[in-house]
Amino acid sequence: MATATETKNLRTPIVCVMGHVDHGKTSLLDKIRGTAVVNKEAGAITQHIGATEVPLSTIRSLCGNLMSGTVVIPGLLFIDTPGHHAFTTLRSRGGALADLAVLVVDITEGFQPQTIEAIKILKQFKTPFVVAANKIDRIQGWTPTKNGPFILSYNKQPDYVKTAIETRTYELVGKLSDLGFSSDRYDRVRDFTRNVGIVPISAKTGEGIPDLLMVLIGLAQRFLEENLRMTVTGPGVGTVLEVKEERGLGFTIDTILYDGVIKVGDTVVIGGKDKPIVTKIRALLKPAPNREIRVEERFDRVPKLTAAAGVKILAPGLENAVAGSPLRVAKEDSVEAIIKDVEGELEKARIVTDET
Ligand code: GDP
Repeated sequence: MATATETKNLRTPIVCVMGHVDHGKTSLLDKIRGTAVVNKEAGAITQHIGATEVPLSTIRSLCGNLMSGTVVIPGLLFIDTPGHHAFTTLRSRGGALADLAVLVVDITEGFQPQTIEAIKILKQFKTPFVVAANKIDRIQGWTPTKNGPFILSYNKQPDYVKTAIETRTYELVGKLSDLGFSSDRYDRVRDFTRNVGIVPISAKTGEGIPDLLMVLIGLAQRFLEENLRMTVTGPGVGTVLEVKEERGLGFTIDTILYDGVIKVGDTVVIGGKDKPIVTKIRALLKPAPNREIRVEERFDRVPKLTAAAGVKILAPGLENAVAGSPLRVAKEDSVEAIIKDVEGELEKARIVTDET
């Protein structure tokens, strides 16, 4: 268990939402945001460039009395570009950018080709994940309890509905077993380091989302206490999500910062089309909440950011930057060494991509 001082150094885990097309990835993220708004917790959710941060206080309010015990992580940062592409192209040093994943499966359709593909990726990167068995509201006879915990809703259903849920959940258990994972419905899992938890949810009614968030927090704590220690004062390290030309600004990169600190004026090394780009940060931009969409006002400028965060970076020479490549802050005397590191990381990423 982390001590009180260690706890301060735990950064927000990065969560990727994966699954077959139309199984509900986007709806799930929208529902988490939407429910928090209804619960008057909107102010607590922070919109980043390319990500949404759900702080622990919001998760606690969504989970109600489901959640107990000490939680040492500050919240969860969901990557807003769900899907495999994001996962396979976005890397951190030595692995996938995401610390955790939610694999969304439509419970009425079961595993589909992209579900299997996602599991193979998660296995390759040894990423802890939870299965969200979505669309339980579409099981015939299901009576919803809006935004409630799954177990509460489940206990109110007639036996034939319970049986339908059980049967479909065990179909998922069977498929996961074929792919080398032992799993069970989350409330029957004792050790999430050995078994994958399956949480039945509905992104439409919100049922099961409290349970899902609770399992994610539990997973994050069990698996990641070691990895999440961040060097709060160290140089920033990130991954480029997208390269975009913004009207009135020029070329920018949307970046997920997963370690350290980044400041305006910092020298950064970024993966480029032919060779790494070395440039100086002109501005760090965050989405401006609730403003009119006027180009100059769409973003707020911030002097400095700490991981984990999503940020739009403005700097000269970004037109050749490559999405999915690393970004590293370099001190004057370390630029050459960092260029070599970035070249090495790009090379490794190429090899892994070729293998997938
Ligand atoms: P994605 O492609 O995985 O991001 O899937 P979407 O979130 O776009 O969802 C695909 C379709 O399924 C949309 O029409 C959603 O409204 C619908 N959908 C998603 N989740 C649920 C759910 O829990 N229940 C029901 N009934 N429909 C859902």
